[in-house]
Amino acid sequence: MKVQIIAVLLASMALSACAKEEVKKMGTNEVVKTEEEWKEQLDDMQYHVTREKGTERAYTGKYWNHKELGIYACVCCGTDLFLSDTKFDSGCGWPSYFKPVDNQVITENRDTTAGMVRIEVVCTKCDAHLGHVFPDGPPPTGLRYCINSASIDLRKSSEPPKETAFE
Ligand SMILES: [Zn+2]
Repeated sequence: MKVQIIAVLLASMALSACAKEEVKKMGTNEVVKTEEEWKEQLDDMQYHVTREKGTERAYTGKYWNHKELGIYACVCCGTDLFLSDTKFDSGCGWPSYFKPVDNQVITENRDTTAGMVRIEVVCTKCDAHLGHVFPDGPPPTGLRYCINSASIDLRKSSEPPKETAFE
């Protein structure tokens, strides 16, 4: 009887170790806050998009037609995500970029909601939903990172921004 209990304990320990590994792969989860803390920090639309995987209506966000120089950072944790010189006019009504500042700042997840198979992109550090990436972008990457304005915050600069290392 005792042996059986120990076996069950060991099995459940192994299972929970696997579950932890799975979470780690989804992102670094360096910035973790409660729902209440996010609600305090973000406005309603920012909260809905980043924490509930919402989507702002096309042509309604503040950055879809924005052309100022700077770095677009995560509205939740401030991580640099996109440079203004990788932004292009995709005509889709959301700010679009052909690449992130660094591959590590973005984590991709398979998204099968809304009757489609899409690649969701989230902030690696805080797991904020940003938008989706599609394979119909311009050179040099051929990718279109279609991002909600509500997920990002532009830090303006007078000169073209330089890439910064992922911390
Ligand atoms: Zn973030």
